[in-house]
Amino acid sequence: MAKVFVIDVARCSGCHNCQLACKDEHCGNDWRPYAAPQPPTGQFWCKVTDHPRGTIPKVKIHYIPVLCNHCADAPCIAAAENGAVYRREDGLVVIDPEKAAGQKAIAEACPYGAVYWNEELALPQKCTGCAHLLDHGSAVPRCVEACPTDAMKFGEEEDLKDLLADAVVLHEEYGTGPRVYYRNIPGCFLGGLVYDPAEEEVVIGAKVILTRADGTTLETETDAFGDFWFKELPEETVSVTIRAEGFTEKTFGGLNTAECPNLGDVALERE
Ligand code: SF4
Ligand code: SF4
Ligand code: SF4
Repeated sequence: MAKVFVIDVARCSGCHNCQLACKDEHCGNDWRPYAAPQPPTGQFWCKVTDHPRGTIPKVKIHYIPVLCNHCADAPCIAAAENGAVYRREDGLVVIDPEKAAGQKAIAEACPYGAVYWNEELALPQKCTGCAHLLDHGSAVPRCVEACPTDAMKFGEEEDLKDLLADAVVLHEEYGTGPRVYYRNIPGCFLGGLVYDPAEEEVVIGAKVILTRADGTTLETETDAFGDFWFKELPEETVSVTIRAEGFTEKTFGGLNTAECPNLGDVALERE
């Protein structure tokens, strides 16, 4: 039996309630043997990160709350002496605030930067999964309870398997087996607007062809405002060709989708 977090990025409004709830639960509260008090500044056991992409006016933003991943193969456990970091039966990874005193190596071992060093107490500290609440009758941690959009879920892996089917973990390449999963992290996008400088009008229905790194193509058309979008693209280098009857076609090469390029206002000259 192992608990997991599942966070649906599409439902996250970036309200920071989870971050604030975590602070409220742990700042100034002594939950030993689960955790010593979190200092009021400098630590974010739950941190809502913002990800603005694109350029004005084609900008999109999404938010990703990050916390300890309660890894199945946790480097923080390996770095700890005297069993100062341990995995509970429910899968949560907890730092023992007594045994971990003075062990800065625990903070340095986490590739996710999820462990903070408390100078005053000489103690590594991080998200406990709110184990103190779970052990006293709460079904979910404070951050999950505080989420107004139900973007955060916590429970048995088996019970959440439908949500996990299309979920990913952050930085899978670290190889630590994270147990915080994310759904609906948006892919890259590319957009622009096509207009006719002679008429000072947008061009509606222009064909826009995106050629991918492997030579395959995607097609779309400009809408009633002359805009076009390609969404949910993987990170790769592509080219875009714009065609409209009576106009000279234009091609843009070497576009890195990771930068969510905006081709801006593209002027099509009449033939
Ligand atoms: S995210 Fe970092 S602190 Fe949390 S279990 Fe994994 S290695 Fe340890
Ligand atoms: S589980 Fe508890 S300690 Fe961890 S981020 Fe959520 S509120 Fe903070
Ligand atoms: S409380 Fe929920 S909606 Fe608000 S930032 Fe956290 S995960 Fe997103």
